Amino acid sequence: MLTNLVGNAIKFTAEGYVKIDVDVTKQDGEAPASVTIAVTDTGIGIPPDAVDAVFDKFTQADGSTTRVYGGTGLGLAITKRICEMMDGRIELSSEVGVGSTFSVNIPLKVDRNAQVERFDVAALTGRLALIVDDIDVNRTILSDQLAGWGMQSHAVSNGVEAAEALKDAAADPSHPGYDVMLLDYLMPGVNGRELASMLSKQSSVAIPPIVMLSSCDQSVTSHELSEIGIETYLVKPVRERRLFETIGRMFAKRDQQSRLTRGEEARPPADATAAPAPYADESYSPIQLAAEQPAAPSSDADALLDSILSEAGQPNSPVEATAEPAPADTAQPMPSATGMPSATPATIQAAGPESQAQDAPGSAAPEPATTEASAPQQDRPAKPLGKQEILVAEDFPLNRDVVRLMLVDTAFEPVFAENGKIASDMFVAQPDRFPLILMDVSMPVMDGYEATQVVRKWEAANGRAAVPIVALTGHALKNDRQECLDAGMSHYLTKPVKQAELLEVLERFTGRAVEGTATRAA
Ligand code: ADP
Repeated sequence: MLTNLVGNAIKFTAEGYVKIDVDVTKQDGEAPASVTIAVTDTGIGIPPDAVDAVFDKFTQADGSTTRVYGGTGLGLAITKRICEMMDGRIELSSEVGVGSTFSVNIPLKVDRNAQVERFDVAALTGRLALIVDDIDVNRTILSDQLAGWGMQSHAVSNGVEAAEALKDAAADPSHPGYDVMLLDYLMPGVNGRELASMLSKQSSVAIPPIVMLSSCDQSVTSHELSEIGIETYLVKPVRERRLFETIGRMFAKRDQQSRLTRGEEARPPADATAAPAPYADESYSPIQLAAEQPAAPSSDADALLDSILSEAGQPNSPVEATAEPAPADTAQPMPSATGMPSATPATIQAAGPESQAQDAPGSAAPEPATTEASAPQQDRPAKPLGKQEILVAEDFPLNRDVVRLMLVDTAFEPVFAENGKIASDMFVAQPDRFPLILMDVSMPVMDGYEATQVVRKWEAANGRAAVPIVALTGHALKNDRQECLDAGMSHYLTKPVKQAELLEVLERFTGRAVEGTATRAA
């Protein structure tokens, strides 16, 4: 049931988030608990007159979405049937353009012998965190999690507010100071990296250790992050235990370092914060659940933050004594007057579960890994040195991410077009730019067949050789394959596309070696 509901939520949501709420009401005695699982999205929504019908077999809210989104119209009918077989019920509330909530309520027996896993929160209780995230629901989730561990938090929604909060803390002698900053990477205006970079360059305000929370599609390396004072980088969605252990380990390290700088003997960290064994269930999906707005470029971000922070160095400010940042190669962080070390460039933890997060797809790639185009581009962004651009016509953001991830660490650079019209326009505008086009078949505005015909006609009229066009088709039937070839396509790949097949086709049709470090796992 959840697979279907979450799958739909992701499919029908281009921006915002997908959230799963779980609520359990226990009954007395042997009576089953009432479990409610609500899947909320900020997607296209469902019109009121279609709300009942979507639970019927082979029904889709809007016939025209089928071509864009694909699907059979069976998932909700099956989900509803399973739910009813479990004596439960499913409800839907939705608003067009705002989003939908599918809520499943089922009675479930309670396992009285289940082991309850408890966190030892002693090392975290009473500490104060600064949460910086533009998405409201993310701030709420983080604040709630920290509160569950006895921590306090102050949550702000952008880099400017974060800088102001740090300045206010520095200027107020009674402020305890922030023990950690949980910093979202992708935010409009000043993004997390810009904020950390700016903060690392200034010396008037003490910066707490930073945990960067990022979606996987940003290309950042550990080295880049350590240079701007980011200790740890976690890929969203972050599991509660991983966040708990990361913060605990960070506090233990800081406490130990501050004891050392005070000349006390180093003691091993408490159990709660000892380096944990990696958890078997800690695998994360390389595809993020929340599709966030890309951060707008912020050319004047530095100047803005500079001006906010430059007012912070009050004569009697409690941080004045720590105004000098430590040199970049100093491993020992400088203790601040608030008792916490300032976040001078620090080493990223290499061991433990975080290393998995740091090695996330894209994290080792040079930035920016891919370019995205929604219209013919004349002034195109610089591609990474030596990479060969290929044009990818694909309307569905998740599939674009998949192609993007598959080509990280290869010699190829995808340039995306959102439909066949944009793709054919881009090709005709710059026919020598792309030696190959990957062409989705089902796309809104102009599908892959028609776009291929536009390209072929233009080539014939201009006496040019045919560029290889490889169809990406969800249709695996023989007729469909023939249709691709009849439309003038050179080859086809059936979705879900496998990386090894994609790379083989790129190599074959462009005559260029794939190179890079991509693994060819099928
Ligand atoms: P499918 O997704 O395969 O078409 P489902 O039975 O799962 O079949 O869904 C039926 C229809 O309900 C979808 O085609 C879509 O029109 C609508 N729908 C389901 N979930 C959502 C959602 N989260 N947001 C918007 N529309 C939805």
